[in-house]
Amino acid sequence: MKQVRVRHQTVESIPEKLQANILYVTTEGDVAGHLCACGCGREVITPLSPTDWSLTFDRSGPTLSPSIGNWAFPCRSHYFVRGGDVLWARDMSDEAIARGRRRDKARKHRYYGRLNEPLASPKAPTPASSPPLPSTPPSSWQRLLAWWKRMLGR
Ligand SMILES: [Zn+2]
Repeated sequence: MKQVRVRHQTVESIPEKLQANILYVTTEGDVAGHLCACGCGREVITPLSPTDWSLTFDRSGPTLSPSIGNWAFPCRSHYFVRGGDVLWARDMSDEAIARGRRRDKARKHRYYGRLNEPLASPKAPTPASSPPLPSTPPSSWQRLLAWWKRMLGR
């Protein structure tokens, strides 16, 4: 794999057309964009947040973490950007990706399976006990019903 260096450039917003080997960062610092380091010309947009990517700088250049895994691109590049250097990581095999997806699926299945369980699981909150309804003898219910029927009948 070829040696690639990237430098960062701060921009108002990610430009329509990106240049190779430049890591664009918005002034707000909420998103970064660059062209896939393999040279295939595809744009890689990485949101920057505690749950997405983080971008740090030192004297040698920008560092993006975690790694960039372009599985959706034909090149399937996988690399790290560390101090402006692109460090190529091993390509993930189809088998490894499929295994990851199966794991995801199993996890979702377990999660939703749990949701479908009856609510009487030990962890489910017990419903607040409601005071018993005042019991009414059937005869008065019948009288009430008859009264309603008369009212509605008018
Ligand atoms: Zn590529």
